[in-house]
Formats: sequence, C-alpha cells, structure tokens
Amino acid sequence: MKKVISGIILCMLALQGFAQHEDILRIGISGGDGHTSAEFVVTQGRYEVVLDGTTRAQLAAFERCSLRPAGNRVAVSSQNGTIGNANRVLLRSVKWHSHFKLSAKGTSNRFLPAVYPDHLIVRAQNGKLVLVNECALENYVAGVAEAESGKGHELEYYKVQTIIARTYALANVRRHASEGFHLCDEVHCQAYHGASRFEERIPQATWATRDHVLVDHEINLVTAAFHSNCGGHTLNAEHVWSRPLPYLVGRPDTFCLVMPHSHWEACFARKNWQDYLEANLEAEGVEDSLVSLSYYPARRKRFFADSLNNLRMTTIRRDWGLRSAFFVVEEAADSVRLTGRGFGHGVGLCQEGAMRMAQLGYTSNEILHFYYKDVHLIDKKHIQFFREE
Ligand SMILES: [Zn+2]
Ligand SMILES: [Zn+2]
Repeated sequence: MKKVISGIILCMLALQGFAQHEDILRIGISGGDGHTSAEFVVTQGRYEVVLDGTTRAQLAAFERCSLRPAGNRVAVSSQNGTIGNANRVLLRSVKWHSHFKLSAKGTSNRFLPAVYPDHLIVRAQNGKLVLVNECALENYVAGVAEAESGKGHELEYYKVQTIIARTYALANVRRHASEGFHLCDEVHCQAYHGASRFEERIPQATWATRDHVLVDHEINLVTAAFHSNCGGHTLNAEHVWSRPLPYLVGRPDTFCLVMPHSHWEACFARKNWQDYLEANLEAEGVEDSLVSLSYYPARRKRFFADSLNNLRMTTIRRDWGLRSAFFVVEEAADSVRLTGRGFGHGVGLCQEGAMRMAQLGYTSNEILHFYYKDVHLIDKKHIQFFREE
C-alpha cells in the first residue's frame, strides 16, 4: 500500500503541478479584553471599503481608515471624513499581493501593529472590535513559519515548518467556528503575526511545498505536533495528552543536543518545593523527604515518583513554569536545584533537532519521516482520491 501510494503521488505531482485555486482562511486577531479602535493603512496594493456588502470607498497605497465600535456596529472614517457604519466591514484587497498595516488600541496583543496580507473583516461585539484577517492559505502558512521559527534557518528546515503549518491549519479549521473564524493567531492554534517579511527563504519554502500535507495510513491529516527541543528523546502522544497516535511515537534524537535549548536549570526555595509536593502527592505512607528533595529519573517519566502515580510531570511543569517536564532534582542547603532537558512538550517534531538536521544536509522529507512515524507527504488535492481507492 505504502509503495503504491508513493508511486502514484510522485506521478500525480509531476503531472498536475501546483494548486489551481487559492484556499482562504480566516484568522482571529487576538486582543485580550478587546480592541477599542483600530487603524488600517494600505502598505501595498489597493483596497475597497465594503460596508454590509456595498463598496463605499477605495483606498490606494498609504491611504488609511479608522475603525471604532458604535454600539453593535462598526463606524469607519478616512482622512476625508466619515465613510459610514455597518454590521460587517470588509477591507477587501483588489490587487495581487496587497497588504496592510494594522494597529489597535485597548488591546493586549503585543504583536500589533503588524502587516497582514489580503483582507480584513471587522465586526463589533459588546462595544469592542473583532478583527479577522482573511487570507490565502499559503500567505498564512508563510506567516506561521516566520512566527514559529524566526530568521536564519536552512531552506529545508523552512520546508518542514511550512508543511507542518499547512497540515495543522487544514486539520483544525473548525477550531474557532463558533467565533466566526477558522484559527486564532496564538499558540493555542499556531503563532501568526501577519505576513512573512523578514526571511526570503520562507516564501521560497512555501512555494516549493505548496499544497503538500502530511497524512497517516488512512489518509487523514495528521496532528503535526511540534516543540522547541526534546532534550534527547521525543515522547508518545499519550504521555502528554490523552490519546495515543501511531505517528506520534517517542524516539531518541541526538541532533538537538548541541542546540540552544537542550538544557536548563532552575532553583527554588526548598520549603516551597516541599510544601508543593506534600500538597499534591496524595499517596499515604510515603516519606515526603524520599520523593521531594532528590529525584533522578533515568529517562522521561509520566508521573513524578513511579510509586505514587498521581502527580503528572506535565502538571509540575505548568505549576512551576518550567521549560520541560524532563528534569532531575538535587537538594542544596535551603533550596532545590532542578536540572532539565529540552524545551516544550516533547511530542512530534523537535524544531531544534530539525534545524540541526537541515544544517547537516538532510532533506525536508527525511526530517519529517525522522520525527513522524510512517506518514505520507501528499498533495492535499488528492486526499479524496486516495480515500476512495
Ligand atoms: Zn486557537
Ligand atoms: Zn530533539
């Protein structure tokens, strides 16, 4: 089955080339308690101001408009005066490669102002603005690759990150359906701070991998989990979440050990640590001092101290703000020292391991198959075709 799939995929990719249509995604721009006003400036291209379906104004490059809530409607004005108000405002790009700069007031979004590709949809809710960037899937993928991995990496690494971002997006398009958009712009979905602008290899990688997604043996899009650094061994999915997945299986990884986030240290007051463990370990008849002050697991553990089986390492990580749930504990005078490995949950692809593999000349395909067991790389247009086989 696997060989047949690989053969067919290669032929179809060669014959049919790349996508014939653009997929559109709506990304909610987070704002904590809400945006009290917003400023829209055309940075490239041309835009139409569409109020409840009717085009009311045009904005050329460097022209701007202001948006503010007016009850449950949105009031729009330009430098020339009021444009009008509406339940739904669409700032629609009418030229290829248009983008705009968005700034907002009263928001806790620390990435604004930022430059976004394509369109902006604005509604008002409870006296605040709801801002949604409607953009082409591939523009979103490039933005995520930049937000999630930064500048200065190899092209093969960016190809990996764009394939993961695209797979994740398409597998999770219903995550925010009740809020009127597909995905949010935070790590709850994937970090997205607008257009990719600072690394020329990202658009190259996005184009080179266009439409490519990862599927499992039943041709379902995979949960393409990733994290910063696994500390030397990745984890099974059920180790961190509830459900096992056949392609998220722990494996040794020495590539990330030379990378910046392979090790960490933290120091806490001995009494605080001890009080925390006493409050959280519910087993009876166990000497607290045996488990709390010196702890040297030989490998990654799911629970703190095997015999107790009730305090998850991931819970300790969350409660103490640790970089990972993979650490040893040593006692000092009035403190405990935690020495840990890795950064993140440890499931799926290890980003720093993948960066290192790309530096050493591995291809994006080899990297993806190293971290995700028995997955297939497939053009998303062909998912239905393979399901019907
Ligand atoms: Zn989300
Ligand atoms: Zn790793």
